[in-house]
Amino acid sequence: MAKNRESPVEMTTEEFRESGHQLIDLISDFLQNIKTRPVTTGASPSQIKKLLKLDHLPVKGTKATELLVKTSELLFNHSLFNGHPKFLGYITSSAAPIGALGDLLAASVNANVGANMLSPVATEIEKLTIQWLAEFIGVSPDYGGILVSGGNMANFTGFLAGRNAKSSQDFKQHGVLNQVNRLMIYCSKATHTWIEKAAILFGHGTYSIRWIKTDENNKMDISELDVAIDLDKTNGFQPIMIIGTAGDVSTGVVDDLKAIASLSKKYNLWFHVDGAYGAPAAGLPELKDLFSGIEEADSIALDPHKWFYSPLEAGCTLVKNPKDLLNAFSSHPDYYNFDGDGEEPMVNFYEYGLQNSRGFRGLKVWLSLLQVGAHGYQKSIREDIELARYFFELAQVHEELEAVTQNLSITTLRFVPKGFEKDEKYLNNLNESLTNSLQKGGKMFLSNAIIEGKYCLRGCIVNFRTSKKDIEEMIDIIVKEGHAIQLNLS
Ligand SMILES: *Cc1c(COP(=O)(O)O)cnc(C)c1O
Repeated sequence: MAKNRESPVEMTTEEFRESGHQLIDLISDFLQNIKTRPVTTGASPSQIKKLLKLDHLPVKGTKATELLVKTSELLFNHSLFNGHPKFLGYITSSAAPIGALGDLLAASVNANVGANMLSPVATEIEKLTIQWLAEFIGVSPDYGGILVSGGNMANFTGFLAGRNAKSSQDFKQHGVLNQVNRLMIYCSKATHTWIEKAAILFGHGTYSIRWIKTDENNKMDISELDVAIDLDKTNGFQPIMIIGTAGDVSTGVVDDLKAIASLSKKYNLWFHVDGAYGAPAAGLPELKDLFSGIEEADSIALDPHKWFYSPLEAGCTLVKNPKDLLNAFSSHPDYYNFDGDGEEPMVNFYEYGLQNSRGFRGLKVWLSLLQVGAHGYQKSIREDIELARYFFELAQVHEELEAVTQNLSITTLRFVPKGFEKDEKYLNNLNESLTNSLQKGGKMFLSNAIIEGKYCLRGCIVNFRTSKKDIEEMIDIIVKEGHAIQLNLS
């Protein structure tokens, strides 16, 4: 080996600068033109695989500049764009452009935010980011927490902290299996699937979940919840946790968090709020009442990559007493010397969650919070909600559309052509075909929801690029496409 090493991994400064500038130019053009592109090309996996050309890992490398240009083309011409103004599917937001630059910067410095010593600036930025998120949604800034990859992980983290806090002292030694009384978890039927995954993966089994029915407003039925907990206690189960949802994934309903908080107190249970989608709306003064009780939660999951428009991935768990995270997750192997010299307590994020090494995902969130500001976020979230209401209103007055639900920024509706108002089976088939066809067509993108047996189109606006004009155009696209499908079905 030569004395001065020449690594194939290294790039010369010139090469980096040149390909970087070129890439930024390509991305700028892409963002400028995103609304003129189809939302998706609807290509199949095998068509896409053909485009990639390579079946095996090449033996020889390729120049970075060439790779980045080719790969940009591939991505810009064949992706599904959730940053398109007419993308309203699932709960996937447009990404704040500053987030892309933040990720580039974060990756360039490559801080390992598992330990304070390895990420002195990054750890402080993440601590502040967590505090700002808490402040924005109106809970005490003393909540601590951790940034994670998304809503599922944020909910898992809160779940694990809660079960550790509310099970027996020797839980860590005995685990789930040796609990004398089965640990029970309570949530409504509208809860996101993360809870099933958690119950299965963390050893409880799905029988440990009590699915509480929802009332006529689709909120968890509080008197049923009370009865279920009481009955379980009488029968020798050990209730540990109630999960309230702040913006359910299907229709955006917020549970009565205040009532859940008081039942949690009554039975000494952990109160977890799944606000992965909806929690940011708690930052609007006009919605304070709707979210009342969130400030009493022991843990809250929220997703900066949803309604704070961060690029994927960014989730966050907020915990009222940050010690509960340490109690659940901290361990001190003798090969870690991360406690500093004792002058100031160090926050080492590996002790607050499931990950060990951690990337600096906080930077993109922090930068966009700074760029946009609290007022900017309030404005954008409020406008998303107003547009969802407009979408609902246009469906209400349209002769061939039925407006079904409207909560937060989620609107559900369906296409009901004249003469078929009574034929539920036909309407379900029709609207399912319509959803599939809209999703592949590339003009716009919606997902679906089943509401009281009705197959509905569902639009969720967490998209700062969507305008009133887009909503009006989408109404036309839906009806036009609906008629085309109708001809195909008959
Ligand atoms: C989106 C969502 C999740 C899952 O979040 P991911 O970021 O997709 O992991 C969980 N709960 C609710 C209410 C959600 O809206």
